[in-house]
Amino acid sequence: MRAEVLIIEDEREMAELIAMYLQKEGVATKICESAEQGLEIVKEHALDLVVLDINLPGIDGFEFLQVLRKKSSVPVIIVSAREGDEDVILGLGIGADEFVTKPFAPKVLVARIRALLRRYRSDPSGYSESGLLHFGPYSLNMEGCLLRKGSKRVPLSCKEFDVLKYLVVNSGKALTPEVIYREVWGNIYGDLTTVAVYIQRIRKKIEQNYSEPVYLQTIHGKGYRFNPETLISAKGS
Ligand code: CA
Repeated sequence: MRAEVLIIEDEREMAELIAMYLQKEGVATKICESAEQGLEIVKEHALDLVVLDINLPGIDGFEFLQVLRKKSSVPVIIVSAREGDEDVILGLGIGADEFVTKPFAPKVLVARIRALLRRYRSDPSGYSESGLLHFGPYSLNMEGCLLRKGSKRVPLSCKEFDVLKYLVVNSGKALTPEVIYREVWGNIYGDLTTVAVYIQRIRKKIEQNYSEPVYLQTIHGKGYRFNPETLISAKGS
């Protein structure tokens, strides 16, 4: 798989281990030991994915992610020895796509990286007219993690995209956090508050008035619903 992955990790051995496994897959890697260096590299290179440690000298992985997400939707996998739920929720809440705790099986990490790269890749040269779903001023490219407002890209992580897509495809239905978690994360064991975190993040990106959502509505006691009235069925209308 041709891709370039940046590994931000201050433990040299860990970084080299991850790099070695990725190189076996034909993935090119860059390693840096601090988030500050990482931000410089991100500025200068078109990367396909970032593997991010949290405990770093200088600014930590969370801060890095917050800065990164202001300008890039490159997939990010956090690899951290901190496994508290708060860390996972915070990491996902500020735009990570995956959270892997140390120690981890390198094969598992590589499989997750491959899956994310594949999905991100299916975002074609930017824009394909097929497989687009329109709502309000937005178009959702069902093939890739891509949402546009007019011609402008809305930065969504792959997971945010998945949540939005699931709700749009099932528009009109009230979906409980349990169902959303099961269908999007493919897992029944997890922290359901993650769903609320994602809904909030997506709302911040697409709703004009965050407290009165037009698209992603809360149905009290039931869950969330994508408003079917905002869907535009005929393209170009
Ligand atoms: Ca570290």
